[in-house]
Amino acid sequence: MNLIGTYGTALADHLVIDAGTVLFAEGDAGSCAYIIEEGSLEIALDRPEGRLVLARRGAGEVVGEMAIIDRRPRSATATALETCTLLPVTREQLASRLTQTDPVLRMCLAVVLERLRSTLDQLRDARLGAASAVDEVTQDQARRERHDAAIGEMRLEQELKTALRYEEFELHYQPIVQLETGLVAGFEALIRWRHPTRGLVPPGCFLPTAEASGIIQALGRWTFREACAALVRLTEGAPPAALAPGRPFMSVNVSARDFSDPGFVAAIGGILRESGARSGDMKLEITESLLMQEPDSAAAALRACRALGLRIAVDDFGTGYSSLSYLHKFAIDTLKIDRSFVSTLGHSRTSQAVIEAVAGLASQLDMPVVAEGVEEPFQAAALRDFGCTYGQGYLYARPLREDEAARALQAWRPTISRHRRELEPA
Ligand code: C2E
Ligand code: CA
Ligand code: CA
Repeated sequence: MNLIGTYGTALADHLVIDAGTVLFAEGDAGSCAYIIEEGSLEIALDRPEGRLVLARRGAGEVVGEMAIIDRRPRSATATALETCTLLPVTREQLASRLTQTDPVLRMCLAVVLERLRSTLDQLRDARLGAASAVDEVTQDQARRERHDAAIGEMRLEQELKTALRYEEFELHYQPIVQLETGLVAGFEALIRWRHPTRGLVPPGCFLPTAEASGIIQALGRWTFREACAALVRLTEGAPPAALAPGRPFMSVNVSARDFSDPGFVAAIGGILRESGARSGDMKLEITESLLMQEPDSAAAALRACRALGLRIAVDDFGTGYSSLSYLHKFAIDTLKIDRSFVSTLGHSRTSQAVIEAVAGLASQLDMPVVAEGVEEPFQAAALRDFGCTYGQGYLYARPLREDEAARALQAWRPTISRHRRELEPA
C-alpha cells in the first residue's frame, strides 16, 4: 500500500494520488478535507477481527470533513481505489471564505456544520458500538449545548460588528504608578463595550469572539488610535506634580491575531504618524504565550515594532512558560508580573521568590518591572523593596474613563507605602 507524500503529486492546488495510496490513516492529525474531483476512495477501519469498510466516496463527494469541523484525529483510513484527483480544503481556507460571506449564509453554514458533526458523531458511535444509553443522554445534551453555543457565537459576532460601526467601544485608562514616588508614570488602556442594553461589558466577555472571528483586527487598530490620541491629551492636561520623572507612557494590549496579521505593523506606523503621539511613549503589551506560540514570526513582528520606536512589555509574566531565556531573543523593554503573584504575597513563599527573581533579573537587564493587581499598601511596600519599578492596581486607581483619568491626575496624591506587613511564610 502506498503512502501519500511518497506517491502523491500536487498539481497547483490539486493532489493526484495513485490507486492503493493511503490518503490519511486512522489516528492521523487531520488538517483538511478533500473534494474528490476524479476517482474514488474507500473509507475503512482496521480492527483485530478484520477490515471494516465504512463507505466508498467518488467524484463530487468530500472526504475527511471532520478535520474542518473539529480538530479530532482521523477516525478512519481513506485509501484510493483508483487514481484520484483531489482538492484539499483547510479549515483556515473555509474560515476565511466564511468571513467574507453574507452573515445569514454564515449562520446557516454554522448550523449545518454543527448538524453534520452530530450526525457523524452518532454514526461513529453506532459503528463502534460505543454508546451506552447513559452516554447518549449526556452526548445529546453536549450536542445541544454545542449547537446553542455556535448560534450564540454567531450572534455575538454580528453584534460586535454593529458595535464597531456605532462606536460602542471605549477605552478606560488605569494609571501605572512609580512605587518609589507614588507618581503616575503611565497608563494601560483597557477596552470595554458600552452595550445599549447590557451596560458596560468587560473584555473577557467579547474579546475571544472578536479574536476568533477576525473583528479583533479592526478593533486593535481602533484601540491603538484611541490610546495614542488619549495619551497626547492626558499628557497635555496633566499637572507636572502628578507625573513621575520622564514622559508618561501608554500601554496597549495586543492580541495574537494582531501579531500574526502582516499589515499590523504598517497600520500601527500610519496611526502613529497621524496621531502626533511619540512612538517611544507607546508600549505594546504582549503575553508570554503569544511569544511562545510562534516565536519566529513574533520575533520578526517585534523587531519591526521596535524599528518604529515602540516599546514592548511582556504581560502576565510568570504565568506562561516562565522561560527567562527568551528575553534575549525578543526585544523586550518591560516585564509585567502577573496579578496572581501579587495577590498571594504574604501567603506564599513561592510568589515572593518569583517576584524577587524577576525583579533581580530585570534590574540586571536594565528593564523596568510593573507589578499588576496592587490592592494593599503592604503589597506596594514589599514590591518596592523587592525592586519592582511600577505598581498598577486598585490601591492607586481602577481603570478610568478618559475624563475621569484627567480629573484624577488633577487631584493626584502620591500613595507611598512605607510599612511592610510582616510577610508570612506559606
Ligand atoms: P490584563 O492585560 O492583564 O489587564 C489587567 C486586568 O486586571 C484588567 O482587567 C484590569 O481591570 C484588572 N485589574 C487592574 N488592577 C487590578 C486590581 O488591583 N485587582 C484586580 N482584581 N484586578 C485588577 P480587564 O480590564 O477586565 O481586562 C482583562 C483582560 O482583557 C486584560 O488583562 C487583557 O488581556 C484583555 N484586554 C483588555 N483590553 C484589551 C484590548 O484593548 N486589547 C486586547 N487585545 N486585550 C485587551
Ligand atoms: Ca495588559
Ligand atoms: Ca496583565
